Amino acid sequence: MIIAIDGPSGAGKSTLGKMLAKKLNLLYLDTGAMYRAVGLAVLESGTNNEKKEKIIKIAENAKIELIGEPDSLQVLLNGRDVSTEIRTNEVGQMASIVSTISQVRKILVEHQRNLGENAPKGCVLDGRDIGTVVFPQANAKFFLTAKPEARAQRRFGEDLDKGRAATYEQTLAEINLRDERDVSRADSPLMIAEDAVVIDTSELDLREVFEQMMCVLRERQSDERTRMARPHEV
Ligand code: C5P
Repeated sequence: MIIAIDGPSGAGKSTLGKMLAKKLNLLYLDTGAMYRAVGLAVLESGTNNEKKEKIIKIAENAKIELIGEPDSLQVLLNGRDVSTEIRTNEVGQMASIVSTISQVRKILVEHQRNLGENAPKGCVLDGRDIGTVVFPQANAKFFLTAKPEARAQRRFGEDLDKGRAATYEQTLAEINLRDERDVSRADSPLMIAEDAVVIDTSELDLREVFEQMMCVLRERQSDERTRMARPHEV
């Protein structure tokens, strides 16, 4: 069972991904955390973001692990817990820069496929290219979106809780910059997979989105059961 959740930043992908993984007892993979871990490694190395070859080497040598339950997921970079460090805006921006490099994507996509395929019961993955590139054969694909202002408002609220001092306007500008890079890159840009269910979360609360997603999954399961019960039907 592979569930793909794609969409722009702040649309609720990770919160809903975790909720689904918990409910269905599946592995949860935050693929953005992997790009962030490479972004952090690049920042720490002092490498200029124009030096593609060096960045690729850093990505090749980075051992990235996601461990623990969805709610307490830890991100390890070469054995070091970087779960908190990777959440800064600076790392997010660097993640979106390194994610435009095809070789970096190749390394991380391979890692994501390995983890997803080997998850005993299946996996929920959230990112930008899960339904289009990483698992185009996913059992269910969701594309969560929301108006930039709604997404910025949510991020701004989360940042306030964490004591971060960015203004709403700065948060909106950061989100727009990252989205622009994600939709315009040549390799695996953020786009809606043909068979994805699109949910605009601007006016919905988490429970409502979760229920809509569960409803789609139940329908998929029941279609699958019907298909298995009638194997000769075309
Ligand atoms: O999901 P999150 O905002 O943490 O991701 C950080 C950045 O990593 C995104 O802005 C995007 O550029 C990149 N990313 C990606 N493909 C993914 C997940 C994240 O390019 N599957």
